[in-house]
Amino acid sequence: MPEIDPIQSMLDRTETERTDLDAKLKDKPLLLFFIGQKASGKGTRSKLLQKAFPDHFEQISAGDLARELQQRLSEEDIEKVADELAEHFPENISREEIHEMLEPFVELEGSRLKATEVILALIKKALADTPEKSIILDGFPRSPEQVENALELIDHFEQEGYYPLFVNVDTPYEVRDARMRHRRVCPICQNSKNITLWPSTKFDYDPDSGEVFMLCDEENCELVRMVAKDYDDQGAEAMKDRDQITQDLVDHLHEHHPEYTVSIKNAIPEENVDQYEPHDLTEVTNLEWDPEKKEVVVSTEPWVLEDEEGKKYYSGNPETWVVDFIKELHKHYED
Ligand SMILES: [Zn+2]
Repeated sequence: MPEIDPIQSMLDRTETERTDLDAKLKDKPLLLFFIGQKASGKGTRSKLLQKAFPDHFEQISAGDLARELQQRLSEEDIEKVADELAEHFPENISREEIHEMLEPFVELEGSRLKATEVILALIKKALADTPEKSIILDGFPRSPEQVENALELIDHFEQEGYYPLFVNVDTPYEVRDARMRHRRVCPICQNSKNITLWPSTKFDYDPDSGEVFMLCDEENCELVRMVAKDYDDQGAEAMKDRDQITQDLVDHLHEHHPEYTVSIKNAIPEENVDQYEPHDLTEVTNLEWDPEKKEVVVSTEPWVLEDEEGKKYYSGNPETWVVDFIKELHKHYED
């Protein structure tokens, strides 16, 4: 059987919708708020969506914008930065107040930044810098408290002709957990793989621990043993508090702003599996050491999971998620 390219298959199966959307996005670009828990796969899906609509999408990450601001403030005069951002703050906020709001950015660690007004101004500036493009916004809103600010942004950009949508990348707990728990990183090049979900092509066996492990297969690197990083072995449990805030955010959006909210599930119920192709399903890799042949034997099988009610479902590949999402988008543009 010929090998099927999942990306080509994604493009083939959405051709009608993409052709139609391609024209419509020119008149009415999208403003997508990508929301998802840790290891939900937002980044991969965002990249695939950009591949599906070349030249249409820009990705804006709230975290990156905050880090860039911090970097600038370490090199440039705070007044100059405040001047540039001023037009993106509400009119009733004075120059002194902007200055005060920027000050914590000079000192704080990027991940601890919570100054919503500043983040909002940075996002408005980034959006103004990419006119007429559809936008995937990652990292905002982060909590139910920021929804009001996101709605301000929506109000502003709806007037500019954008189509706003909150997109929940809905990935089951077990899937997120396995993505973290089985992650291994190359100590030299930092390339990361997953020993059960997207393994390296090179393996070896450790007779002391009885473990099969991966070797880095990056072209410009060495065949070095890939290792687990701190906290990865705790899996999704380590992210429990942050993930709960994201869940609260999603629940809030579905309840209060259903017209702006879609959840696309990254799971295929067992009863629907015949509507999908084998390459839509995520496989798990099993690695076993054959002591006779002295080699690692690799086998794969579809990843079947069980939800809280004991119902079976399959984990879908990211391309499959994007197919579902493009069809959903197409429906939104038809009303
Ligand atoms: Zn490496």
